[in-house]
Amino acid sequence: MYPAECQKKGDWCEEHLRAKSQCFLCDPKLNEEFAAQYRAKLGNEPPAVEDKSGKTKS
Ligand SMILES: [Zn+2]
Repeated sequence: MYPAECQKKGDWCEEHLRAKSQCFLCDPKLNEEFAAQYRAKLGNEPPAVEDKSGKTKS
C-alpha cells in the first residue's frame, strides 16, 4: 500500500500519515484488528499506541 495511492483515492489520514482505512489511531475498531494481527504474527501483545500530542511543535 503506497501513501501516494491512498492520497489519490482520498484514503489518507493527514494526522497520522497513513491510509485512513488503516488508521487504527482514528478508529478503535481497527486498533483491535491491528492488535489481533500483531498477536497472530508475533505471538505477543502489540506496543501501546502513544499519542504524540504532548510534543510541543508549532
Ligand atoms: Zn488517523
